[in-house]
Amino acid sequence: MLGLMQDWPLLVHKIIDHAALNHGDREVVTRTVEGPIVRSNYAAIARRARKVAHALDRLGIKLGDRVATMAWNTARHIEAWYGIAGLGAIYHTLNPRLFPDQIVYIANHAEDKVLFFDATFAKLVEEIAPRLPGVELFVCLTDAAHLPKANIPNLVAYEEFIAGTDESFAWAEFDEHTACGLCYTSGTTGNPKGVLYSHRSNVLHALIAAQADAMALRACDAILPVVPMFHANAWAIAFSGPMVGAKLVLPGPKLDGDSICELLTTERVTMTAAVPTVWLALLQYLEKTGKTLPDMKRVVIGGSAAPRAMIEAFEKKYGITVIHAWGMTEMSPLGTLGTLKPHVEAMEHERQLDYKCKQGHAPFGVEMKIVGDDEAELPRDGKAFGRLKVRGPAVAKAYFRGEGASAFDAEGWFDTGDVATIDAEGYMTITDRAKDVIKSGGEWISTIEIENIAVGHPSVAEAAVIGVAHPKWDERPLLIVVLKPGQTASREDILGYLTGKIAKWWMPDDVVFVDEIPHTATGKIQKMTLRERFGAYRLPTAAA
Ligand code: AMP
Repeated sequence: MLGLMQDWPLLVHKIIDHAALNHGDREVVTRTVEGPIVRSNYAAIARRARKVAHALDRLGIKLGDRVATMAWNTARHIEAWYGIAGLGAIYHTLNPRLFPDQIVYIANHAEDKVLFFDATFAKLVEEIAPRLPGVELFVCLTDAAHLPKANIPNLVAYEEFIAGTDESFAWAEFDEHTACGLCYTSGTTGNPKGVLYSHRSNVLHALIAAQADAMALRACDAILPVVPMFHANAWAIAFSGPMVGAKLVLPGPKLDGDSICELLTTERVTMTAAVPTVWLALLQYLEKTGKTLPDMKRVVIGGSAAPRAMIEAFEKKYGITVIHAWGMTEMSPLGTLGTLKPHVEAMEHERQLDYKCKQGHAPFGVEMKIVGDDEAELPRDGKAFGRLKVRGPAVAKAYFRGEGASAFDAEGWFDTGDVATIDAEGYMTITDRAKDVIKSGGEWISTIEIENIAVGHPSVAEAAVIGVAHPKWDERPLLIVVLKPGQTASREDILGYLTGKIAKWWMPDDVVFVDEIPHTATGKIQKMTLRERFGAYRLPTAAA
């Protein structure tokens, strides 16, 4: 027997309609790419999102078509997301920090038809446009007066694109399982893989994120997501913020300590979220200037492990509660959040900090388990560590176009590639990363890609890249090289060879030469052994 409740599909654009109706004048403040701080609100965003949908519809964009965005966190970017989704098309976030070749690969793999981009990236778009044959229109997120003079075909300013369209254009009708957003992750080995969010998964994930023991979002909050929208949905904030009617403060292109601090203060921000590198810069800025953040209540830190000193500084010095979170692109992205359970809340602050350094516990909607090499589940005792597997309504069940299928098992568990412990109360701690990619300033660096290029140098026999601790960027790449017999090459030779072949920020901070690189029985490089050997290696760039 079926229940007799209404079939109300969980569609993302219902969120912005709800916000427009119930929190219509709640502000959305943007530091624009053009410079000035501009104020909008949910009513205006909803109207303009419908105009975006109408403009795309006029262009012939249909259900399931991919529309790329390469943009900072701004009101226009949010309008574009809702407009694209409301038409039943798929917003596809492109990460501008990737190397152009990767962006080209990703955009072509996704078969993007339109590309919305910020003027900041005009040069980059000009460079890659000839290699994106499927993109019919390039929309610069600005007005005609600020349209960059770039050699980009079929270029139009966003304000011109949506001019003359209907602000009450009807949303398309479709099932809640319809694809809504696409985000590629380089966290796995091989080519980047697409994670395809559905309307249902995005809505459920936003509800999960807003809960009191997750991000605890309220209408009274003013939220500043530093985490970019091209990083796994900006951790749901573009959906959960309007869902609860919170004010949004969007930092645009300026993510330095000074600019962020100015917005946090003048816009009286109560909650914010970013990777540890961003908070390191902000804490240094606060320290240097002696400023404080009296309105700030909570800061969410995730993407990499939050160091204890950082958590301590926020909580003890500035009176701001830290919520340490773990997740991944494949999880929409929230997996666990480190809010306090009753037994932890009753503890002394020092002991609470031990718990805050853990990655947190799973909200409803995230199932977790750790398994050993034989796939058998390991005990939740806080000691046994194993591969972390997850399931849930906002967790991927496959990658776009069926790639990377081995990460998903027959029972629907997704292998995160992380190694973790789970304690009896459900707090999870990441102990290691099964994969070997490096995370620098919140961004993945693929070690395999650098190695593959390095071994192209005529003198190099074998190369391995590992992450070495760095005070500012969490980790930076160290390139370990075995030279061919009788050959010579210097550090500068090797780095010179890599120049122009990889993104600048992927460039190894140092090169060391060794006689031999250790291998596993199946011939793979033993990165663990290298990490142990070079764990304490001090990079020349690490000087404070
Ligand atoms: P991404 O898909 O780029 O968000 O990267 C996901 C990966 O980042 C996870 O699989 C973890 O390896 C790592 N990660 C995310 N959050 C944390 C955290 N709080 N502590 C340690 N590692 C983290």
